[in-house]
Amino acid sequence: MEETGNILLNWYGKNKRVLPWRETSDPYKIWLSEIILQQTRVNQGMAYYLKFVNNYPDIKTLVSAPADEVFKLWQGLGYYNRAENMMKAAQIIMSDYGGEFPRTANELKRLPGIGNYTAAAIASIAFGESVPVVDGNVYRWLSRMFLMGTPINSAAARKEFAAKASGIMAGHPPGIFSQAMMEFGALYCVPESPGCSRCVFKGRCQAYEKGVVEAYPVKKPKTEVKKLSYYYFHIETTDGKVLIHKRERTDIWKNLYDFPSEVFDASQPSFSIEKSKLLKSLKLENAFELTGEPSRYVHRLTHRIIYARFFRIKIKKSPFLWKKSLLLVDQKDLKKYPVPRLIERYLQDENILI
Ligand code: SF4
Repeated sequence: MEETGNILLNWYGKNKRVLPWRETSDPYKIWLSEIILQQTRVNQGMAYYLKFVNNYPDIKTLVSAPADEVFKLWQGLGYYNRAENMMKAAQIIMSDYGGEFPRTANELKRLPGIGNYTAAAIASIAFGESVPVVDGNVYRWLSRMFLMGTPINSAAARKEFAAKASGIMAGHPPGIFSQAMMEFGALYCVPESPGCSRCVFKGRCQAYEKGVVEAYPVKKPKTEVKKLSYYYFHIETTDGKVLIHKRERTDIWKNLYDFPSEVFDASQPSFSIEKSKLLKSLKLENAFELTGEPSRYVHRLTHRIIYARFFRIKIKKSPFLWKKSLLLVDQKDLKKYPVPRLIERYLQDENILI
């Protein structure tokens, strides 16, 4: 085990990427990078990390920022509950911990949005606690090295893989070691066609020895992808205002803004906009003019596919704003509101600057 750890650290010293969050032991910046990089590739996450650090260089500036501004900065990254949890955690750190991050993984896990992985990353990298960070890259590398067949998306996997990682990590600096495991999986022990014949672990890797590298890591079959269909109504007044809607339901787009919408009934062969329940609720059923054909979009997320049609309509009278989540705003101010990627795609296609 010790030799495996030495080989890994030696490889890391020669091959690691220079990344801004590796050049710091500031728990705030490490936390920010870990939250941004969940579900996001390093190349995409880098720009967001730099934007956040520039706008909010520390926990105090993040806590003082308006929520809409934070969501706007987050726009395009997806999984918006990460931004919401980040703001909640920042408030708790300020109020309960005097603005200082808790120093152990167990304490960090009590904060919103910080699970085992992120807690271990902050505790080991910023505070040197001996807890291994086990992300998808580490699962892949360990499962191949030691022929570990427990499905990595099963409840049992985390403990088993963390124990294995701890065993190799013993006697090495925890923060650097965790980063080395993740980096080796990200750069070398990659999902498809890893360079096994030149690998530093060639004589030690059990999957390579048995010729079963591609079969690892083992995963349980994925949950079924849900299909959803919506009609969106892009409603504009003659004096340059647009009707938007703040999403308040607990879903992936909570706290973002979109257009008022209604569920698309796939069993109906055609849709007559005159019969729209939504336009009726806004008291607009006889007071609009449709601008062109509806635009159609297919938007894929991890566990769902959204089929969307956007109707762009002009109205001559004010809509009835029957709930407070409906807002009539100046079109020129639209760019200030954080929107889901689907809405952003539509607005870009319509040449509406956001
Ligand atoms: S030999 Fe191949 S599978 Fe094994 S650790 Fe190296 S790159 Fe990964």
